Amino acid sequence: MIDSHSHIYCEDFDSDRDLVIARAQEVGVRHIVLPNENLESIERVLSLKNAYPSYISIALGLHPEDVDGDYERQLTAMRPLLDEHRPVAVGEIGIDLYWDATWRQQQMAALDTQLHWCKELNIPFIMHCRNALDEILWVLDNFGEPLPQGVFHSFTGTPQEVEQVRKRGDFYFGVNGIVTFKKSNVKDILPVVGLDRLLLETDSPYLAPVPNRGKRNESANIAHIARFVSQELGVDLEDVSQATDRNAITLFKLAL
Ligand SMILES: [Zn+2]
Repeated sequence: MIDSHSHIYCEDFDSDRDLVIARAQEVGVRHIVLPNENLESIERVLSLKNAYPSYISIALGLHPEDVDGDYERQLTAMRPLLDEHRPVAVGEIGIDLYWDATWRQQQMAALDTQLHWCKELNIPFIMHCRNALDEILWVLDNFGEPLPQGVFHSFTGTPQEVEQVRKRGDFYFGVNGIVTFKKSNVKDILPVVGLDRLLLETDSPYLAPVPNRGKRNESANIAHIARFVSQELGVDLEDVSQATDRNAITLFKLAL
């Protein structure tokens, strides 16, 4: 299994990060992708990558919740770091209007700029979408050139919304612990997305799956998500692991 979206570089893991990685390896997690958040987090992302160079890949980008009136300066400072550190994706990027819509226009502009980075570097995007599908689709529809490939991570939309996204491109969808929550409808998108376009992710330290819901999440929990998906789709766990590994390897061009 591959954890395609994990923030185990963050402070929550400062006391036991190596143990967390050992536990992931023990349950069969073969690779972890770390998406960046802002200029400040890059140092943490890079240092974890340096400690586990073949086990970890990185994405670099500006998270929508870190976009404010200062976003252009942040993007200008960040861009050369992508040339220097060669991330496997631009991420995480996107639009989040759940808590605050103050920087809606800026979030849309920052997303557009970073989607162009994907084209310049020939790498995919990792998209964060929360209460903002219309805005994201607008940016995609006004991009002005063929769109890059990418993944809509932690996708919590409806099957109809999966189809709306797919009209714009043959994108992947990331599923995490939310799918195991009793009141969540994310399981409804599984048959629509299909094993060919599904990625597994934990989004650690958030969103721990049942039976660890409410605790700090870590990459080893990907096993619970994989098991839930296999039961829901009625396919072998091995088939879920193989397909989602293949998808992550293809999308991020991982050399595993
Ligand atoms: Zn994330």
